[in-house]
Amino acid sequence: MADKTNTDPARMEKIVSLCKRRGFIFQSGELYGGLNGCWDYGPLGAELKRNLKDYWWRKHVQERDDVVGLDGSILTMQQVLVASGHVGGFSDPMVDCKTCKARFRADNLETEQCKQKPSKCPGQAEQCELTEPREFNLMFQTKVGASSDENDPNAIAYLRPETAQSIFVQYKNVSDSNRVKLPFGIAQIGKSFRNEINPRNYTFRSREFEQMEIEFFCRPEDGMRLTDEWLEERIRFYEEIGIPRDQLHILDVPDGDRAHYSKKTYDIEYAFPFGVQELEGVAYRTDYDLKKHQEASGKPLEYFDEDTKEKFIPHVVEPSAGCDRTVLALICEAFEEEEITNEKGKTETRTVMHFTPRMAPVKCGIFPLIKKNEDLVRISREIQRTLQPWMNVFYDEGGAVGRRYRRQDEVGTPFCITVDFDTLGENGPEQKDTVTVRERDSMEQQRMPISELLPWLLERIR
Ligand code: ATP
Repeated sequence: MADKTNTDPARMEKIVSLCKRRGFIFQSGELYGGLNGCWDYGPLGAELKRNLKDYWWRKHVQERDDVVGLDGSILTMQQVLVASGHVGGFSDPMVDCKTCKARFRADNLETEQCKQKPSKCPGQAEQCELTEPREFNLMFQTKVGASSDENDPNAIAYLRPETAQSIFVQYKNVSDSNRVKLPFGIAQIGKSFRNEINPRNYTFRSREFEQMEIEFFCRPEDGMRLTDEWLEERIRFYEEIGIPRDQLHILDVPDGDRAHYSKKTYDIEYAFPFGVQELEGVAYRTDYDLKKHQEASGKPLEYFDEDTKEKFIPHVVEPSAGCDRTVLALICEAFEEEEITNEKGKTETRTVMHFTPRMAPVKCGIFPLIKKNEDLVRISREIQRTLQPWMNVFYDEGGAVGRRYRRQDEVGTPFCITVDFDTLGENGPEQKDTVTVRERDSMEQQRMPISELLPWLLERIR
């Protein structure tokens, strides 16, 4: 189990710096000073995030026959979020400091930073003057339509604060059009928006973020069991993407701390360098949401069980994961500064990202030994074209091969292929049309025929 007390700010600083330097993550609008709580994924970050989302979809939708997908709209009708309780109650308690004009989450004061010295937390310094807490609704409101009247309640819409509500609202359409039988799930990956009082810890708490959610509908008597099963399934998923079980902490959220409608909630937490924090919630939400939407819309949302002839509102188990938080966990887990002895016998530090091959943004580097040799370049380019339809590869002909390896280590490329004079058959016919494949973690090299590269790599990156 992850240790709750460990933090390592120096490690986090190095990770943030690498992410910018190598193009994983940039501050949104950085050119103009940056938009707080929003992030842009650079070329490598975008690949990493796509790999995560694709694998999640493959495991939980494509490879199961009891889960189907949905891609709902981000703009959400006011009525939907009134019924779900978000308009009335999706808020955090906030306090203002009259001295420094900063705002803080009232329930997080002990972890917030105050500008006053020698204080650390808001309220600790003599000068601090905190107001009474008041509720701050976290939703972004907007108006729909060009001619809408300023005060027309029908024109008010929100950027969705979670992907779940469109699943509940479309539950009937999905079940009617797909002839699904309980238990079954509807999965969705998409952006959500929360006007967090204090975005912090890099991308961990953002105002715009992506969620990967499943609403798994079931009979009431199966809810508790399925919550435990989904917890296991999700822990297995984290292991498969390179986050080991011993870096996770499972919090069985006690009565009183859970949402009022939830009979059971597990938080899956990860040991980030800034502390153990939530990656995902697996919650048994009972029939709360569908009931609320049935009441508010006046449309029946019951399920008719053909076998037992019963009519009832299904219960739901919800594994709800943060995509950006998982990307951050993958990056934190992969980062290592390793002491190694180089070819000259000297100790040096190798920065390496140990992404599992299935998550790695670049699967394979392809290098001609020297760029001035036309045959080496031609064969390298041919290999690149053969692999490109199947995976993201990177062609690099600049500098010594050792330096090219280091550049790929730093972004977590698991394999590098070098085309050399042996490939051309210059050192004997037995090596002709073979290349060197170097493995990132062990740094070991092996010779392999070019014709075997594609199946060999595919087997390792799936
Ligand atoms: P927290 O307590 O950290 O605010 P939450 O319990 O409110 O999170 P949920 O509403 O359960 O979060 O949302 C499900 C998942 O969505 C979270 O586990 C998290 O991974 C992700 N998530 C929620 N809020 C944010 C955010 N502001 N930035 C990034 N990811 C988020």
